[in-house]
Amino acid sequence: MSLTKEELAERLKSRLEDLDSFRGYAGDEAKVRCPSCGDSENEQSAHLYIKVVPEELVYFCFRCRYSGRVDADLLVQLGIADHDLGRELKSSGNSSYSGKRKGKTLSLLTKPVRIELPKVNRSSDKVAYLEERLDCTFSDKRLKRYKVVVDLADLLDKNDIDTITVSSKIFKVLTKHYVGFLLTGKAYVMLRKVSGSDNNPKHFMYRVNNAKDSDKLFYVPQQELNLLAPKQQFAICEGIIDAIGLDLYFRNIRGENTVVMASLGKNHTALLQQVLQLGFLDARVGIYLDKDDINGSRGGFKKLPLEHLSATIKYYYNLNNADYGVPKHQIKLKEL
Ligand SMILES: [Zn+2]
Repeated sequence: MSLTKEELAERLKSRLEDLDSFRGYAGDEAKVRCPSCGDSENEQSAHLYIKVVPEELVYFCFRCRYSGRVDADLLVQLGIADHDLGRELKSSGNSSYSGKRKGKTLSLLTKPVRIELPKVNRSSDKVAYLEERLDCTFSDKRLKRYKVVVDLADLLDKNDIDTITVSSKIFKVLTKHYVGFLLTGKAYVMLRKVSGSDNNPKHFMYRVNNAKDSDKLFYVPQQELNLLAPKQQFAICEGIIDAIGLDLYFRNIRGENTVVMASLGKNHTALLQQVLQLGFLDARVGIYLDKDDINGSRGGFKKLPLEHLSATIKYYYNLNNADYGVPKHQIKLKEL
């Protein structure tokens, strides 16, 4: 027996509808009581949302954030163990991502190279630079979230990499005067100058290893997201410090689940296409422009030619500043 994706979704739907814990639909998501957290006291409510469209059989609990792709294990937990259906899910590839189901989220972006970040010396002038610029304290947790590299040499040591990809003279300058941020794919560190000679470039892209990742090169503070979280937004901006500024800004807003991405000067359209290719065809997308981009000094701004996409795309700028690499109270968003 081999079911088509449509048949598989239909079969799953009817099994879910038979459950005592089935509480109807929200759009194309079946609502059932969550077997992982036991759900809330109110028997009428159900927090586990199971998306049952043929292309996407995933689940997410709004109470305990239990999530993954629908597989045989979930059927067992729901009390609808079904050997055939389980096997069909597996052969359709649906269970391949759920792994040991310890995670709350699915990693969506590039397959990571194993690179570990060294512990940051918090008294570094580079941490001070970030704290002052964004007016916030960079705890260890925050430094890790933003994948901050204050010492390039330390990063290579920690990962037993004994090759440097620039001259040793330049490497010393980069280690001393630049603060870095590990990019997606982990093959590159984007470095930003915080001290030293005016003659040195403001930014330097340092290749850490030979992973081929050049086409998927961008910076994302939070690389994982809840597939079914409410109010999901992709915020696309240009620079890394902008992305951190926006991330700090959005994290304060309740109910927002915003994934900030920095295009690093590459074109926003490519980055957006990548988001959409991940399956977020109806995503809310915010493009966060620098003021320079809209007032004409860079030749004026044209909306991206994306009308054919179903994503909701809005354009913003910061009324109070040129960009978003500023303390969060200095961000005042204005829609274009
Ligand atoms: Zn739950």
